[in-house]
Amino acid sequence: MALVNEHFLKLPSNYLFADIAKKVNAFKVSHPHAEVISLGIGDVTQPLCPAVREAMHKAVDEMGSKESFHGYGPEQGYAFLREAIVKNDYLPRGIHLDPSEIFVNDGAKSDTGNIQELVRWDNSIGVTDPIYPVYIDSNVMIGRAGVLQDGKWSNVVYMPCTAENNFVPQLPDKRVDIIYLCYPNNPTGTMITKEELRKWVNYAIKNDTLIFYDAAYEAYIREDDVPHSIYEIKGARKVAIEFRSYSKTAGFTGVRCGYTVVPKELTASTLSGERVPLNPMWNRRQCTKFNGTSYISQRAAEATYSPEGREQVKEVIDYYMNNAKMMHDTLTSLGIEVFGGKNAPYLWVKTPDGSGSWRFFEQMLYNAHVVCTPGVGFGPSGEGYVRLTAFGERNDCEEALERITQWLK
Ligand SMILES: *Cc1c(COP(=O)(O)O)cnc(C)c1O
Repeated sequence: MALVNEHFLKLPSNYLFADIAKKVNAFKVSHPHAEVISLGIGDVTQPLCPAVREAMHKAVDEMGSKESFHGYGPEQGYAFLREAIVKNDYLPRGIHLDPSEIFVNDGAKSDTGNIQELVRWDNSIGVTDPIYPVYIDSNVMIGRAGVLQDGKWSNVVYMPCTAENNFVPQLPDKRVDIIYLCYPNNPTGTMITKEELRKWVNYAIKNDTLIFYDAAYEAYIREDDVPHSIYEIKGARKVAIEFRSYSKTAGFTGVRCGYTVVPKELTASTLSGERVPLNPMWNRRQCTKFNGTSYISQRAAEATYSPEGREQVKEVIDYYMNNAKMMHDTLTSLGIEVFGGKNAPYLWVKTPDGSGSWRFFEQMLYNAHVVCTPGVGFGPSGEGYVRLTAFGERNDCEEALERITQWLK
């Protein structure tokens, strides 16, 4: 008899976006002529830029000829991409990494979910709340999160991020083994200053805590004094793993490419107190369970660093960030409290009159025919907020704002 991993059964079966789809469908059935606009999706809408497409075409042609065909590539990624990452994403910020500290992957979701395999099942974890669900759910699956009680996992330390603390999480008052941070943040769209991040790195050094730092939205940072990488902070290489992705940076959600940085200096402890470097462990893990990202995707990622690629990628990000600004300004002028949207493509909107996330979601759907994402779906501290994304088409975005204005005026 094969026994299942019963930790999976603890996961709530309803997935947030499935619940939303159900409610939207119910609305459409009763309002067949309404045109619904979604400002809820966390996916990009603008096509791949020309430099990326060109690189992909070229790579496909290489794959089609005997002389330049590529079979299995290195599990860690091709040297051309790892070197381009070191040279373009880190060196200009004064961070010196070795290509062997870069692990190319098929997107950040896989590695943010898989990375917890490196640590024992009985480590404690801390997360900012609200949160990108992958961090907790991947820990639930192997039994590290405990059981769900009143919307919280019993073995998870939640660090609330709300308007009251300006979305800056407080250091936990006890030591935690592993902490997940995501900046710029999904879902709140808010950022952390260098000084605040320094507190986390210092906490980690002092408490021997491992930080998993998700920087998937790094390309959206606009303001100064906002760290682009956790390695801008002194000592971070000893305590942090960083995740990046081309998904939101360059519209690669359907192409699949990202990378994980595991510095050579980063170690964790065995039960008997011996320090073990995580870089060779992650390398071993990847070589066993991962067979590399496609050559075509990696050439595509490399193309985002060419002069044309950079320019074109920036244009698309500007497009989304103009949406974000428009949304921020309009909602603010309507007297709604809005957070985020300055260094991230997400706006975190306080529901007026303290109505709940789901209630406001339904009101917006039925009165403006606009879909948002209920904040409570990202964790208990998301109650009383909804998330709007700036990833839509400009026209849709404008139309949605007009309808919201009509509704709330
Ligand atoms: C979109 C996103 C990612 C990236 O996912 P990919 O697998 O690279 O497409 C990672 N972290 C967060 C918080 C995200 O929102």
